[in-house]
Amino acid sequence: MDPVTEALNEFHRRISALKDGEVASYIPQLAQADPDDFGISITSMAGRSYHAGKADTPFTIQSVSKPFVYALALTDLGPEEMLGHVDAEPSGEAFNAISLEPGTGRPANPMVNAGAIATTALVAAADPEERDARILEWLSAFAGRRLDYDEEVYASEAATGDRNRALAYLMRSAGSLAGDPYAVTGSYFRQCSVRVTAADLAVMAATLAKGGRNPVTGERVVAQDVAVRTLAVMATCGMYDGAGKWLLNVGLPAKSGVAGGLIAASPGRFGVAVYSPPLDAEGNSVRGVAALTEMSQQFALHLMNTPVHLTATVTDTVHAARSSRARDAERTAALDGDRRLIAVVGAQGDLEFTETEQLLNAVAQAVPAAPGGMVLDLTAVTGISRGPATMINAALRDLERRGHQVAVAVQEPLLGRAEGHPGFWAATRDDAVAWCEDRFLAQAASPPSP
Ligand code: GLN
Repeated sequence: MDPVTEALNEFHRRISALKDGEVASYIPQLAQADPDDFGISITSMAGRSYHAGKADTPFTIQSVSKPFVYALALTDLGPEEMLGHVDAEPSGEAFNAISLEPGTGRPANPMVNAGAIATTALVAAADPEERDARILEWLSAFAGRRLDYDEEVYASEAATGDRNRALAYLMRSAGSLAGDPYAVTGSYFRQCSVRVTAADLAVMAATLAKGGRNPVTGERVVAQDVAVRTLAVMATCGMYDGAGKWLLNVGLPAKSGVAGGLIAASPGRFGVAVYSPPLDAEGNSVRGVAALTEMSQQFALHLMNTPVHLTATVTDTVHAARSSRARDAERTAALDGDRRLIAVVGAQGDLEFTETEQLLNAVAQAVPAAPGGMVLDLTAVTGISRGPATMINAALRDLERRGHQVAVAVQEPLLGRAEGHPGFWAATRDDAVAWCEDRFLAQAASPPSP
């Protein structure tokens, strides 16, 4: 057995012994659930999934649908308009609380029912059928397979969901619900009755963790900025009145549902889901909370516990580089007699702030006496984020101002972005060094007039 499955089995074995909590019964059909059902699934960023226990047992998604439908409305409306309709404040209240802003009636928290119902109403559609179809298709894209409804749970909630209907009517009277309250709550109950397994939910969470790209199907389901905002809302609002404690103890964006589903996303690492119907007083799966608390501690997943990447960004420094360019005797002699030095600093990996700060420090150490040549060999660099690119450009401009020849070697995709950047951009270190030599030769041939 592979080590990940083994670890999941170990959690599963230990946590199976937990018999606390009550299966939800306010939606009558949910009371049918087997309290012993317990499954855990993980999906990695490479799209591999690992399971323990009842990972293929279907259950209704319930409130775990909320972050995904939030992402859909956010995609339709954009961040500003979305916030105008539904705020993003952890209300610290129960999932079915009447949590509306005094005056405007705007729901505070999109992860509790009032805010979630208002969010469902914002999904762009000509009629409720189209809205339901869009939501089902959207959830399916996150899961990477065609999902369907549990019609019995839907009928059961639609027949008894007076409190949610009341919330919707209240919001309409306050002017904060778009659309007909009865139809909107119908769509909300539909969305809650979508049938999933722990295995599905792990893929859905992994899609958020991967910035909106489904790691199994490879499909970009949602834009990166929408995925990030959705995870942020999950982190602050996802666990109802247990949200603060959750962030303290587990430290991952998460969402629970009243049928016993619980997801968490470890950004850039994996999505995880637990299914176990008995709930604690806050309405979160008892075994789900226990499993994720243990996992987070054992694998150091807490978001605030980000590893410091003082990794080997700088690969090498050369103080007096020469290219392999073949040159005639005259030019070779000219270069040999040239006292100016060309330094090279090589770097690798993704350049974020920490890495770039290291790189530029190494450059500062390596710069030869002016005038000279400075080459940044970034051919082993796989990505440069926007802020770091600005830092690098500023450093290059400064070197030019101090009279240096400046060249950068980068991989093909980055080469395309060279336009407008200071210095000469080449595809290889050798070309970059040769360009500096060429500049030296050109200057020696036509010395600047005194
Ligand atoms: N459909 C459920 C409700 O509105 C969802 C609540 C939940 O999962 N916490 O009551």
